[in-house]
Amino acid sequence: MHAINRARGGPRVVVLWPARLAVAAAAAWWLLAPVAASAAPRVGRPRATMMWETIDPVAATSPVNTHTIYLHRCVGSDCTVVQGTTNSTTSPVHSSLGHGVLSPFSQGDDTWNTVVACMREVYAPFNVEITQISPGSAPHFEIMIGGRPEEMGLPNGVGGVSPFSCMPYIPNSVVFVYDVWGNDPEEICATAAQEIAHSFSVDHCTDASDPMTYFEYHGRRHYQNRQIQCGSDCDANHRSPLGATCGGTDFQEHACACGNGAQTQNDVQVITALFGDGGTPPTVKIVSPRIGDTVEPGFTVIAQITDDVAVAEAEMRVDGALISSATAAPYTFTGPAMLADGTHTIEVAGYDNLGAPARARVQVIVGPGCKAPADCPDATNTCVGGRCVTGPGVAGGLGQVCNAATDCASWLCANDNGSRYCAESCKPGQCPSGFGCRDDGLGGGLCWPGFDEDSGGCTTAGGSPLGTAVLGLGFAALVLLRRRRA
Ligand SMILES: [Zn+2]
Repeated sequence: MHAINRARGGPRVVVLWPARLAVAAAAAWWLLAPVAASAAPRVGRPRATMMWETIDPVAATSPVNTHTIYLHRCVGSDCTVVQGTTNSTTSPVHSSLGHGVLSPFSQGDDTWNTVVACMREVYAPFNVEITQISPGSAPHFEIMIGGRPEEMGLPNGVGGVSPFSCMPYIPNSVVFVYDVWGNDPEEICATAAQEIAHSFSVDHCTDASDPMTYFEYHGRRHYQNRQIQCGSDCDANHRSPLGATCGGTDFQEHACACGNGAQTQNDVQVITALFGDGGTPPTVKIVSPRIGDTVEPGFTVIAQITDDVAVAEAEMRVDGALISSATAAPYTFTGPAMLADGTHTIEVAGYDNLGAPARARVQVIVGPGCKAPADCPDATNTCVGGRCVTGPGVAGGLGQVCNAATDCASWLCANDNGSRYCAESCKPGQCPSGFGCRDDGLGGGLCWPGFDEDSGGCTTAGGSPLGTAVLGLGFAALVLLRRRRA
């Protein structure tokens, strides 16, 4: 009911298991079928696989029993595997897939650290902790990385393997990423992401940018948040590893293994249904100084950072340069002792326990500040309230259409009933020609294109005058837009 193909460079061999789900893995038999090199022209990726495991429905309780995925770098003989019902919480672990002792992971620390960082990034959308520290007998999912497949009785060249089930998850699953990928942390990461998701009932898919694919891809793969055709894994006989009939483009499409006949799956929906989303990033607010304040070098920055779980770290930058960091409140920082006259950007970043970031920025003035755009160092700048800011007509500049805060140099993407423009904080009379300072509904003002401060309305053709109350509602979204999630 599954396929095993050789890793890169080797002859491709498919191992087929019986096609009926009722046959437990332990009772499976092997059918070796050589596959012509031309059989699957779009398949360029070494294949990792999955094997059915019959799961006691009572064991896969809802909600899921853990949010931890343990990346187990094989060292010494600690990747010892005993045959039995898959269980990561025993010592040594048990696996339905085979038994033996996996040799240590042969790549160095740099490769390993990249794999860990990659998996954390790939799992950031979900409420999952990726750890390198063994949870021991506590419930967890485990990805053993190291060794060779033949060390646990599997065919030479298998890239990775997971037990597979259409239960929502395989409790305390142990999956394997073998040491056949060389110094390629992105492939190791993608294989780890593919194998562990097989333990969450996710089948292979045809989007090459998704880790569930067999297709080749250059770059980091992420689970895609949309319905994607299952497939990419069909053999010369137009069969999927689980026995489904393949059709479509290059005979690489088939019904999803756990989809009740559906052709598509949404990986992100499936994984989110199991774990929940990655949680709310922190909220970062720079309390002092305020936008447009005139400061002296060595000024104090006071930030408030909160999170629904925990704030792990905070960083303060000036003009992009990291000045200092803190791991606990109070988040008070000291600016550089030397700063040239002009406009400077203070940025405070906060990270929660899962590494989700949020950032806030304010621009401050050292020295007299600008009186007109001509006082600014860059010809594309304009002058708002003494600050030299990115001007109109430039990417991210004042008045440019935006969708998110990060589209704007100011990190202010203001929203008025669906009209979104990059804005600058202002007081009346401070905005450049073509803009007016409009009440933001939050006690401040924002330079808004075509706004007439005298009439309190917009002069832009087709725009109707809007009162402050309406603006207040419209700009409420600003608060959300200012929080950045990288
Ligand atoms: Zn697979």
